[in-house]
Amino acid sequence: MASPNRSQSDRPSIVRPPSLNPLFAPVESLPGIGPRTVKLFAALAGERVLDLCWHLPSGLIDRRYAPSIAGAEAGRICTLTVRVAEHRPGRTTRQPYRILVEDDSGAMELVFFHGKPDYLMRSYPPGQTRIVSGRVELYDGHLQMTHPDHVGPPSEAEAIMRVEPTYPLTAGLTQRMVAKAVAAALKRLPTLPEWGEPNLLAREGWQPWKESLLAAHHPHEAADLEPLSPARRRLAYDELLANQLALQLMRQTMKRARGRPLEGTGALLARLRDALPFQLTGSQELAIEEITKDMAGPERMLRLLQGDVGSGKTLVALAAMLTAVEAGTQAAMMAPTEILARQHHAKIAELAAATGLEPLLLTGRDKGKERERKLAEIESGEAKLIVGTHALFQESVVFQDLGCAVVDEQHRFGVHQRLSLSRKGAGVDLLVMTATPIPRTLVLAAYGDMDVTRLTDKPPGRTPIDTRVLAVERLEEVIEGIARRLAAGAQVYWVCPLVEESEDSDMIAAEARYQVLNERFPGQVGLVHGQLKGEEKDAAMQRFLAGETRLLVATTVIEVGVDVPRATIMVIEQAERFGLAQLHQLRGRVGRGSEASTCLLLYKPPLSENARRRLTIMRETEDGFVIAEEDLKLRGAGEVLGTRQSGLPETRVADLASHGDLLSIARDDAALLLTLDPELTSPRGQALRVLLYLFEREEGVRLLRSG
Ligand code: ADP
Ligand code: MG
Repeated sequence: MASPNRSQSDRPSIVRPPSLNPLFAPVESLPGIGPRTVKLFAALAGERVLDLCWHLPSGLIDRRYAPSIAGAEAGRICTLTVRVAEHRPGRTTRQPYRILVEDDSGAMELVFFHGKPDYLMRSYPPGQTRIVSGRVELYDGHLQMTHPDHVGPPSEAEAIMRVEPTYPLTAGLTQRMVAKAVAAALKRLPTLPEWGEPNLLAREGWQPWKESLLAAHHPHEAADLEPLSPARRRLAYDELLANQLALQLMRQTMKRARGRPLEGTGALLARLRDALPFQLTGSQELAIEEITKDMAGPERMLRLLQGDVGSGKTLVALAAMLTAVEAGTQAAMMAPTEILARQHHAKIAELAAATGLEPLLLTGRDKGKERERKLAEIESGEAKLIVGTHALFQESVVFQDLGCAVVDEQHRFGVHQRLSLSRKGAGVDLLVMTATPIPRTLVLAAYGDMDVTRLTDKPPGRTPIDTRVLAVERLEEVIEGIARRLAAGAQVYWVCPLVEESEDSDMIAAEARYQVLNERFPGQVGLVHGQLKGEEKDAAMQRFLAGETRLLVATTVIEVGVDVPRATIMVIEQAERFGLAQLHQLRGRVGRGSEASTCLLLYKPPLSENARRRLTIMRETEDGFVIAEEDLKLRGAGEVLGTRQSGLPETRVADLASHGDLLSIARDDAALLLTLDPELTSPRGQALRVLLYLFEREEGVRLLRSG
């Protein structure tokens, strides 16, 4: 899992088993990958040999059909054994180069555009027999093969006449280049000790890891490409086991350190309540009750607080923090970015004002004297409430007595970071907040066995968002409607899908839409997209926030961290291209104030069944948990929307929609194993350490006493 906040300096060096080193070498170390292609491979799969090994085929080509020329069926991939009869170079460079080949049944032409004569002469020596493989087509009543995929002497017949995997590509890389690179990467696969549970392996009839990975790259039939094929299931199990083991090692470490009861007096909490201009929601009350009870207990708290954007998590987190302060300790909240840390700090300062406590903000920007002063306040205990970025878990930060750590997760921290903060004190209670509504069945995959508190209702006073689904043909109507709303003072987000190199060119670029809208509403339109520099993006956002621009054309970059309460209209173009989770996140940008908001989902017909379903769900509900459950169902129905959008941990092979059963198996397996061998010292335990490194969950190894 990529983690931008993972810096080298805050993790002691850990030694990877040497057998894995070839896999962690850069892809440049493979033959055939040079300075020109390395970037392309990095974009396609990753920068290391291992990443190429995980680049699994998405299709196959069956080259076993070997008819005679006369018997070849047009349109099929054929492998033919032919004599090279005659070279027929094009008379002009525009004309293709043709080679006449024959067998006892007949003759046909091989066709080459921009063919290099000397190469063709070498590959197809006149009078000799050659094996050629490619698609045979009917052209002008004659059979021909354009650009055979393979050619070789009869001795290579066996190597050519097989089922060949095909790989996902990126612009600039051909099938042949990728297949060659992957094959070279697979040559580096070491034989690793078996970490799988023996009974499970026997029951499922699984091969060892290496054999399974090789099998996944050598499909014989379409079923071998499916997530449910034995090879892919085995690999998915390995990945889920690595995840579960890392998460449970964290739980083991957390729970092993004795907790301490933090019993609040309720005094600060009461002052907070009295000062609030609103009533707590039912969910908030329940959550606070659950959390304070957990904190008062003798065990350490290890709890996940889930709730949609705007459900009021900050207040609940603050209640936990105040309880820790009432009990005589300090409380800290960690956010994934500088901006979010500042937002949290401001919010907490406002909410906590009535309690007389002033939160301290510590980020990477604090330098010199200022930083010294803050560190001193944290160490002396003068600072009770502390908010910050990962700067908080640097070694130089010493707490007088940290009782409660809140981590605002947003998927940016790993297990390692979660732990780092809680290690800053004895038996620190840990509360992890996340705005991503992960389905209940999958919380386990992302967070392991954490206890879960959910905020299911939203603060009152919010008007539901009026969501409409419209065909893009009605664009003019939409623009007229927006003209009226703009005149009445509203602000509008207009989201266009991201334009990527390899995507269809029919996608409407944000730039083009900006031009059109800016012509219609001169001077009122802003533009943000991923290609803009940081400051340009900030400036454009700032102008929109200040109301200088009233309509913001954007790509999905506005997904995170923007809060413009006056924006009440969200237009999403080609909404059918977005996943449910992403649509939900985007729509969450409006409906933040008390005014009625509208979300217009524009689509380009015809809609696939699945896309229609997604848009309907969006129209019917605003409940993030319901949407997440539906998302999972639809993904299970086969449409891949990417784990990144769904808030689940990114996985290489495991697909929770298909491999859900393996998740609970892996969980039970990991739990039993840790009961029997908590330090992973048995032979299987040692093998599991290798597994953790293989899936880059080595943070788990560090939690072991003899790590
Ligand atoms: P989250 O962190 O879950 O996205 P916040 O804690 O930022 O949500 O709350 C969103 C807004 O709702 C804040 O302005 C907050 O003050 C307000 N709020 C929180 N709880 C309530 C409530 N019970 N009634 C009314 N407004 C609330
Ligand atoms: Mg918040």
